[in-house]
Amino acid sequence: MTALSPYLAGLLLAAAVAVTWAARLWPTRPAPTARVESVAAVWRACHTTRCAHMTTRHDETPAGLVCRGCGTVAGGAA
Ligand SMILES: [Zn+2]
Repeated sequence: MTALSPYLAGLLLAAAVAVTWAARLWPTRPAPTARVESVAAVWRACHTTRCAHMTTRHDETPAGLVCRGCGTVAGGAA
């Protein structure tokens, strides 16, 4: 078995670095798309039977916080 020449060892190292560098740059999966949500949406617990006291998104309206799951106007109490 012959020892690798320093030139060949350096070449192999450079090739390995180039492959891993290219693999990191190449996207394997598409980037997650940004979710467009209403700015006014807030997460609050909804105490109706439909939402079962789960935390759901609510929209801020002049009448109060409206649950997106059941449409109930919450009084603002969390
Ligand atoms: Zn609800």
